[in-house]
Amino acid sequence: MKVQSIRGTHDILPGSVELWQKIEAAARDLFALYGYAEIRTPVLEETELFARSIGLETDIVRKEMYTIEDSKGKSITLRPEGTAPVVRSYIENGVHSEVQVAKLYYIGPMFRHERPQKGRYRQFHQIGAEVLGSDNPAIEAEVIEMLFRLLQQLGLEEYCLLINSVGCPVCRPAYVNKLREELRAHADELCEECRRRTETNPLRVLDCKVPSCQPVINRLPAITDYLCEECKEHFSLFRKYLDIQGIPGEITPRLVRGLDYYVRTTFEIISSRLGPTQNALVGGGRYDGLSELIGGPPTKGFGFALGMERLVLLLSGRSELGAPYQAPAPEIFLVHLDSAAFEHNLKLAAELRREGISAYIDFEGKSIKSQMRQANRQNATFTCVVGESELQTDQFVLKRMADGSQVTLRRSEISEYLRKEN
Ligand code: AMP
Repeated sequence: MKVQSIRGTHDILPGSVELWQKIEAAARDLFALYGYAEIRTPVLEETELFARSIGLETDIVRKEMYTIEDSKGKSITLRPEGTAPVVRSYIENGVHSEVQVAKLYYIGPMFRHERPQKGRYRQFHQIGAEVLGSDNPAIEAEVIEMLFRLLQQLGLEEYCLLINSVGCPVCRPAYVNKLREELRAHADELCEECRRRTETNPLRVLDCKVPSCQPVINRLPAITDYLCEECKEHFSLFRKYLDIQGIPGEITPRLVRGLDYYVRTTFEIISSRLGPTQNALVGGGRYDGLSELIGGPPTKGFGFALGMERLVLLLSGRSELGAPYQAPAPEIFLVHLDSAAFEHNLKLAAELRREGISAYIDFEGKSIKSQMRQANRQNATFTCVVGESELQTDQFVLKRMADGSQVTLRRSEISEYLRKEN
């Protein structure tokens, strides 16, 4: 039996990876303009980190984590998200005592044992950014403006911003109690999971996608009507700053998000082109208090994570799983007729590459015809056939593959010619 990749994971092949690289490069360049530095945290963390921060009653912690015991009996987990590791690292490395506000971003794989489907995988990739040390709602608007800029730069169309406030430990308990009361009164109209959540974590019910629960959910009170004065003020300032940036946000009281650590501002960027269920491209919010949950000093935090697979899906219009392998296209394919020419081409290729010109040669002893075929298949811009006469006369013919036009050059002129053509 052939060994295959694990369900819910996928290869990103040449031919697809270029778009991933483009997205990553755009994010890196843009985030730097806003003062973000990259952070790379381990893929493995103590299970405790996620259990305490994301919350024991969330889907992620209850059923989606890849957790193993190491040989010493310590429970470790493949990170299901990036925020908790960044906050852990921020505390552990004493960043909080170095700078007042730290702006950090990460790019990398996350792991969740979910049921795989289009736009939902078990290993997926996120680009995320975190601002630690500020509770100014203006910085929240700045983060969202940065995200909009990124999506615009990449040419994405048709997406919209949903915003909400989930309150704080002062005002949320009253809302949660109200919610529980309402849900208990309609328990017989709810799915089993929601009946359980009514007791353990009623906010999670707002996230439920089961159709039969929707009539009850639609009639539930809105959290935005239960905010304390500070949260109300924060939310209204956040909306004002979004306005200043010219970004429309749709207030969505149901938006509580799947992680417990959020307070006050939460948001999502969704695209209807992702389909009805997995329509979120970006999720984020404020998480003051997360640091304390994992043993750190009181720290304000705000951030987001963008799902790369979903962005690739939107930008390429095709599933990133299906793109066929495509070898990179060289600027010049050096074809050889005999072994002297092969040896010459080895040297010429090295010289050209030193000049920044991509050059390809065949190592498989193929006939001239099949070398030409390969040059064609690889979309080489030029080919150059080298044999005894080229070496003797120092006359090399470069053929442009697109239109068959030719130019004859001395060997010493090749690299400059290609540089100009590039
Ligand atoms: P979350 O960390 O759950 O807030 O998710 C943030 C973003 O990551 C989502 O909006 C998705 O774009 C992406 N995402 C989350 N889970 C998955 C998954 N299982 N497969 C692919 N993308 C995901």
